[in-house]
Amino acid sequence: MFRGLCYIIFFFLCLIQHVFPARILPPISPPEINVTNLLENNTWHDFSKFIDTGKGAKFPGMSELKKYFYRFGYMESFDNFTDEFDETLETAVLSYQQKLGLPVSGKLDSNTINQIMLPRCGVSDTDKDHKIHMHKHYAFFNGEPRWHQKTLTYAFSTSHMIDYISYSQIQGVFQRSFARWASTIPVNFTEVDDYRKADIKIAFYQGDHGDGEAFDGVLGVLAHAFSPENGRLHLDKTETWAIDFKTSGSNVAIDLESVATHEIGHILGLAHSSVNEAIMYPSLGPRTRKVDLKIDDVKGIQMLYGSNPNFKYTPSMESDISSGYRPGGRWVKWVTMLLLVIVGFLV
Ligand code: ZN
Ligand code: ZN
Repeated sequence: MFRGLCYIIFFFLCLIQHVFPARILPPISPPEINVTNLLENNTWHDFSKFIDTGKGAKFPGMSELKKYFYRFGYMESFDNFTDEFDETLETAVLSYQQKLGLPVSGKLDSNTINQIMLPRCGVSDTDKDHKIHMHKHYAFFNGEPRWHQKTLTYAFSTSHMIDYISYSQIQGVFQRSFARWASTIPVNFTEVDDYRKADIKIAFYQGDHGDGEAFDGVLGVLAHAFSPENGRLHLDKTETWAIDFKTSGSNVAIDLESVATHEIGHILGLAHSSVNEAIMYPSLGPRTRKVDLKIDDVKGIQMLYGSNPNFKYTPSMESDISSGYRPGGRWVKWVTMLLLVIVGFLV
């Protein structure tokens, strides 16, 4: 009787698994954190000495960490930057961990410090009111600005470019990056020659370049772009930009296409996302390629512009987070295995 019942349950579970098979997800690789690379991050390499410190601690140089949090929107005022791990810093750490999707401890654990030391985009993680969006997904700039025309033009600066990657290769990188966004929304992008008249202006600059957002040298901040309808997209000229890691051997090489795709997201109106796999997540390690839009990016951009009529979801848009939308499959497998063990004992 009991054995029969087990067989029946087993049969039904097999049936469920057949009808709702677990989805095969592409392998998710966590962001590569290479200690050697991070130590070469001239801008923020010092922060490793703060690992495992918490409220009350006092360390020389902690004020630099406070400046980092101020720079990216986690602290409100620029004064009172002492070397003490005070309440303001704890609040900043908590907000940062929440925004970046890290375990929220309020302490400078190794996860948090490693994340802080990764090279990243220069755009602040919070809006002007210093509010952190608590939702773990895409975000917009204050007031949700967006473009209103259906065709946007872009042009490259004639005087501020790099010469070790050919112009046509850079054009190709940006064509592919724009095409990814264009496939999701009813907006087209066309390259034009007239830099002054183009909606989107792409240039490589180093150091202070007149927009109040000076670049900081190798790694640290990699690029920045402005919200609609500003159109300025700037890349830090001192980075070792790469289009192919096979030909670029540098361990501080940064994938141009990954950064271009991210910055175009800002140009269109997306702020930073908390979803680690999303294109709009703020950091990107050296020698890391991350060019596929994820469901989080697509949902965000389609909130602003609507969907391209030809848009189709592809497997490359799946991520760890998106699999949470439909968790079926995993528990069925485990229960089936447990049942098999029980049946095995009984038979
Ligand atoms: Zn960014
Ligand atoms: Zn700039």
